[in-house]
Amino acid sequence: MSQLKQAQTSPLKRFRELTGQIKQYEEILGVVYWDMRTGAPRKGIEMRSEAVGALSAETFKLSTSAEMGELLAQLSEPAQKEQLDDINRRLVEETAKEYERNRKIPPELYREYVVLTSQAESAWEEAKENNDFPGFVPYLEKIIAINRQFIELWGVKTTPYDTLLDMYEPGLTTVELDRLFGELRARLVPLAEQIANSKHRPDTTFLQGTFDKEAQKKFSKLILKDMGYDFEAGRLDESVHPFATGLSTGDVRITTRYLLHDVTSALFGTIHEGGHALYEQNITPELNGTPLSTGTSMGIHESQSRLWENMIGRSLGFWQRYLPDLQACFPGQLDEVSAEDFYRGINVVEPSLIRIEADELTYNLHIMIRYEIEKMLFNDNLSPRDLPAVWNRKYQEALGITPSNDAEGVLQDVHWSGGAFGYFPSYSLGNMYAAQMMVIARQKITTLDQQVASGMLLPLKEWLTEQVYQHGKLLQPGEIIERISGKSLESSHLCDYLENKYREIYHLE
Ligand code: ZN
Repeated sequence: MSQLKQAQTSPLKRFRELTGQIKQYEEILGVVYWDMRTGAPRKGIEMRSEAVGALSAETFKLSTSAEMGELLAQLSEPAQKEQLDDINRRLVEETAKEYERNRKIPPELYREYVVLTSQAESAWEEAKENNDFPGFVPYLEKIIAINRQFIELWGVKTTPYDTLLDMYEPGLTTVELDRLFGELRARLVPLAEQIANSKHRPDTTFLQGTFDKEAQKKFSKLILKDMGYDFEAGRLDESVHPFATGLSTGDVRITTRYLLHDVTSALFGTIHEGGHALYEQNITPELNGTPLSTGTSMGIHESQSRLWENMIGRSLGFWQRYLPDLQACFPGQLDEVSAEDFYRGINVVEPSLIRIEADELTYNLHIMIRYEIEKMLFNDNLSPRDLPAVWNRKYQEALGITPSNDAEGVLQDVHWSGGAFGYFPSYSLGNMYAAQMMVIARQKITTLDQQVASGMLLPLKEWLTEQVYQHGKLLQPGEIIERISGKSLESSHLCDYLENKYREIYHLE
């Protein structure tokens, strides 16, 4: 570009070019990650990792460049900011937040952390395999120490752990979460106890068997189609750990994993990722090519996957409509099962040690435990060495069971090896957001339950698009739930929903 032309380029135009370029690099990185996780040849991974590293570094450089700093300073000046439209104003705010966060970390420290966490992930895998928590402790200690440095550099928000929470759920505080989890504990722990003592445990024997993979795939695709997942703007593949990746609104891919002896695993996994995908496919085209064209927070994202997976996919009406289709996919295998029995069978509650295998009710207790422990690590200086004892005690208190070893206890999740402290609460926040949204959805779409029971899932998708999806990152999580329900996030809707559902299934008083 000539000097003259550069001088004529407005700060806004140049800023949009830069953020657009970053978004393009991220899209390319997204395709490469998708490829690496869905069957890229193993022998090419090492070279590919280097290519990923190079492009990531380039992206980081752009987002923290002196030019970006100057543009943000200019555009953030009150006189300039006033003239920006809503989209550009939010874009400046979001980019400035990222810029500040990244600029405060010395590059050497960042590099050290990237290397450490990638080593820690293999160390964690090994420790889990050999049930060797002490072998993982040195990594955990270093990761926590560097995270403490990050918190210092970013600035402590009320408590150190609050600073971490804000990364995943902007505006969320420990005060708020203490209240929400306290309320969940007060109602869900007794409910889980009542269920454990109930004589009406649903029959699940019909869920055992061998279920043809192609037929599972066919059924999963049928459900995705009815949910309104656009196959011309996405695809369904297989991977060990299912995920959804939004490259742009025109390319949102999901994966699932088919288990031969479990007909529900791939199905609910697909609906879950399908919920994430509906969100990303239906963001307004106005945000295309900007960093605002994505979900607004991890909690709101999880609310969409969980709403579709649990509140729709595990409802009685859904199975009144779709059980015949499932039966047709597996001739002779599920013929004797009624919709009512199928519904009860897929909603069995069992206190278990492993989070990712937990039912809809006890799942929240697994999350509550992790939240309390993370808070202790950062706010109360709990030593990582003491984690197994604390973990086991909390499982006994909340779920009445104790892991027999650390592999099925404190070592089960990958998150901490990657330094993702503050992420876990998103899962329960998602459940709470979803329950609160569904209360309003039923008021607005008065025949919602009849619609689901007749396979009409699109009106709900349209409503969610209007309320949540289209806004992308234009609205903050708190604004979304406030606009929908007129209130901030409450725990009572999730508790009501779970109590009603399980009282009926388990014939509780
Ligand atoms: Zn999810």
